[in-house]
Amino acid sequence: MKIKSVCGYCGVGCGIEYDTRRLVGDIDYPVNEGLVCSKGASELHTIETPTRLLRPKLRKAYEDFTEISWEMAIETIVHNIRSTSPERIGFYLSGQMLTEDYYVANKLGKGFLGTNNVDTNSRTCMASAVVAHKKVFGVDYVPVRMEEIEHCNLLIMVGANPAEAHVVFNNKIKKAKKEGLKTVVIDPRRTETAEQADLHLPIRVGTDIDFLSLVARRIVDDGKTDDAFLDAHVNGFDAYLKKIKKIPTKKLLKRCGLEEEAFEAFMALFYQSENVISAWTMGLNQSAQGVDKNLALINLHLLTGKINRPGNGPFSLTGQPNAMGGREVGGLATTLAVHLDFNEESIAKVSEFWGAQNIAPAPGLTAFEMIEAAERRELDVLIICHTDPVYHLPNRSRVEAALKKVPFIVEINAYDDSETKPFAHLRLPAAPWGEKEGTQTNMDRSITRQERLTRRSIDCKPDWEIFSMIGRAMGFVSAFDYQDAEAIWDEYRRMTALSPKGHMDISGVDAASLKNGGHVWGEGLFDDNEFLTPDGRANLIFVQNERRSESSSLEFPYLLTTGRTRDQWHSGTKTAFVDRLLKHKPLSYIEINSEDAQSAGIADGDKVKVTTARGALVFEAKVTENIREKTLFVPVTDRRINYLTNDLLDPESKEPDYNHNAAKLEKW
Ligand code: SF4
Repeated sequence: MKIKSVCGYCGVGCGIEYDTRRLVGDIDYPVNEGLVCSKGASELHTIETPTRLLRPKLRKAYEDFTEISWEMAIETIVHNIRSTSPERIGFYLSGQMLTEDYYVANKLGKGFLGTNNVDTNSRTCMASAVVAHKKVFGVDYVPVRMEEIEHCNLLIMVGANPAEAHVVFNNKIKKAKKEGLKTVVIDPRRTETAEQADLHLPIRVGTDIDFLSLVARRIVDDGKTDDAFLDAHVNGFDAYLKKIKKIPTKKLLKRCGLEEEAFEAFMALFYQSENVISAWTMGLNQSAQGVDKNLALINLHLLTGKINRPGNGPFSLTGQPNAMGGREVGGLATTLAVHLDFNEESIAKVSEFWGAQNIAPAPGLTAFEMIEAAERRELDVLIICHTDPVYHLPNRSRVEAALKKVPFIVEINAYDDSETKPFAHLRLPAAPWGEKEGTQTNMDRSITRQERLTRRSIDCKPDWEIFSMIGRAMGFVSAFDYQDAEAIWDEYRRMTALSPKGHMDISGVDAASLKNGGHVWGEGLFDDNEFLTPDGRANLIFVQNERRSESSSLEFPYLLTTGRTRDQWHSGTKTAFVDRLLKHKPLSYIEINSEDAQSAGIADGDKVKVTTARGALVFEAKVTENIREKTLFVPVTDRRINYLTNDLLDPESKEPDYNHNAAKLEKW
């Protein structure tokens, strides 16, 4: 029997078909029309990996883990929760969790345990986009769908590499290029996406706002603003004009490290394009000025009215399969639930809906703030679900030292080989992709269903069931008495009617209707150019490069950046043992500009030592012309990389600054 489901790797959300142990792309699925990338095609291996965690395991200080029963595991959690106060409890969730999992965890933490310290690893990849969307549109809304590429004349990609990170979306781009789409890539690396672009602008690391401000200034100077749109639908244009006219254009162009001809080539493409989409990922988001970088890009669409029409608008690309669903549910410490903030009215509504009396009035600790709280010994219980913070958080030595101070860490994981394992006290085996069912939201708001493909490993449970067991054991029996994922979906979809102005209301969408392409929430939300701000107008916000990130110096003359590779997924837990996924690129290497390598006497394949203010690591050199001078790149599949990265956070989004690390390079 064929089972239709969706890939569980990235935010593209390709449809797949499973048939007696064979997995292929679903040709009827609109997103991918039968295509899957190498990761998606080999996803069945992730269920069979020998590194699965299959039993609950507990350890006491300095002892090895021993297997225990689920009953004892839940009793141990309840005992530790009851031994402390709500503000000293944290939930660290993940974009790998399904919407139902997120919903129950959020309800348990915020509604019933009284802690708003419920955050997610998605904080480290898209929180800057969330904050920017809310500031400009009044709501966290992605106003572009993938299929709009067909209507687009120019696709601008800033700090994004879909050829490796969103492979099937990149196929759509390539197909559209055959029909005349032009693409520009703005990135210090000449990535595979840049190779296929009409124009590559290798700006210096950290100069995105400078470049985007130069474009905005030029639009203003050339009288190319859409004044009717600005007048009718946008706040702040007059104040913006005064500021943008004062930017030092020559100085900024020099700072970007661009020739004037390259800038002119970009403007020519921009002006000749009726429809423009701009897409971005970590190059903008992961920064101490991530929100401002997002704003600078969105501003171009507001200035020119290139938004809310097919083939136009800013398109934040999400990396994880359900980072979007987590945002919608409210799995962020800064959101209560269904896009509601922490205010009296929302708390009253949510309390009534959940029958919960325990909601704390203020936002909780975000991902890295939980580490800071642990450092101060202000966190007693940390429940980590489907993610590996010791691997992925920046400044790893600091993270490790902080986690050693947390008396009780629960790690819910489908896999055994996490970097967080040495810091956990209790480990619970979760059902991975393929062994559970539920919903996820792709990067363009389409809600789809993952189906169970195989029998569940005997002691593994879906996350929602684990959080429900904790809830019931805490005494909240009726609130967590779910029989299956569909019962949770039914409760969640009713709750979406509470979202601000009902913009996310999917109460009429039952689980069965989510197969075969799913349902897109908020379709046409801004079609009449009415935004969700109090006055219905978008906000144009001037920003400038405040250079908050680490700068290079005489001692550390390089800037180290990080990113994904095509065939691997994060730490490689699921992908690094699949032979065919190891052929594309090695798990660890460092890209060094060929002239820099020559001056340092480094040849391709040499061992090099890279030092930052946090530590030093040795890598194998990959000498290339495809990276800007004084820039280094290491793939995130090198599990050690965050011993080098810095822990600066964007002050508003609290997203870390992974891509601006001042570094020293030496031959080893
Ligand atoms: Fe899976 Fe993303 Fe590849 Fe599609 S592009 S098959 S969703 S990893």
